[in-house]
Amino acid sequence: MSAIIIDGESFAGKIRTRLIEEIDTLKNKGFCPHLKAVQVGENASSRLYVQNQQKQCEAIGIKYTLDELPADTKEAALTEHIKKLNNDPQVTGIILQMPLPEGIDAKKAQTLIAPHKDVEGMNPANMGELVYGNTRLVPCTAMAAVELVKSVGVEIRGKETTIVGRSAIVGKPVSLLMLDLSATPTVCHSGTKDLSAQTRKADILIAAIGKAEMIKGDMIKPGAIVIDVGINRVKELDAQGNPVMNVNGKPKMKTVGDVEFATAKEVASYITPVPGGVGPVTVVMLLRNTVEALKISANL
Ligand code: NDP
Repeated sequence: MSAIIIDGESFAGKIRTRLIEEIDTLKNKGFCPHLKAVQVGENASSRLYVQNQQKQCEAIGIKYTLDELPADTKEAALTEHIKKLNNDPQVTGIILQMPLPEGIDAKKAQTLIAPHKDVEGMNPANMGELVYGNTRLVPCTAMAAVELVKSVGVEIRGKETTIVGRSAIVGKPVSLLMLDLSATPTVCHSGTKDLSAQTRKADILIAAIGKAEMIKGDMIKPGAIVIDVGINRVKELDAQGNPVMNVNGKPKMKTVGDVEFATAKEVASYITPVPGGVGPVTVVMLLRNTVEALKISANL
């Protein structure tokens, strides 16, 4: 049996449509979501993220502006800048672009963002809210993974759920969200003794490891729902296992997940592809959090 592929793009599109309607309603009441991005120094990949964020926001009616601070900005100056934005009523959400220059503690800087403007859900106050079952501002990727499980439409209550990975942005919040939905979560990490035993018992398996295709089909319970959070760049190989070269004579690269898709899809009932699964839904969760942040600020 081949699994049903969960189409992240199409699911994200549906959420986007609902957000457009919600933003229209908010604007009619005089509220406009405004996401402020803060970038310190110049970085090619971060610039690409910013351009993409801007496109995504503006396409659904969210105002997006960027504050660019020089590369030699000191932590104290960044702190002041974030505090100013926290107090600016025109700014309803703040996102700090990574990476930050050396000498600035990224974690500390991120926690300076006021909880009600924290569109990435990374402020310890929002993490704490999650423990209490308040899921208004949750890390985007964790929320995306869980929304994709919900999109399948099966009963989650009581389901054995194995999460591989315990990071603060994915594994831990996913486990709390699944617990909140009355699943029975098990969280695995590099110290887990028999990983296959934990993955094979899972009705729902969520992989957030950062190791290319580590979860093979024989590690998956037949009929399981598999959500692959991983994004790994690997060399593309030909049928003989040799690297395929591009026109510049360099190895051609491709993106794969933490799950070996070809073998997993023969065992699972539902599976997310990489790319095209969790990724596009994560992007839309940032938009949803931006709307949510405005609603929290405006007491709506
Ligand atoms: P981290 O590196 O922060 O965490 C990886 C986790 O995997 C850790 O908890 C680690 O355990 C665990 N792990 C590593 N090796 C093993 C192993 N052999 N067996 C069991 N567990 C293991 O990664 P992130 O959570 O930030 O990201 C995970 C993946 O998700 C990455 O591929 C990343 O690129 C992707 N990602 C995708 C996003 C998207 O939008 N789709 C967004 C964010 C991330 P330990 O804690 O013991 O070290």
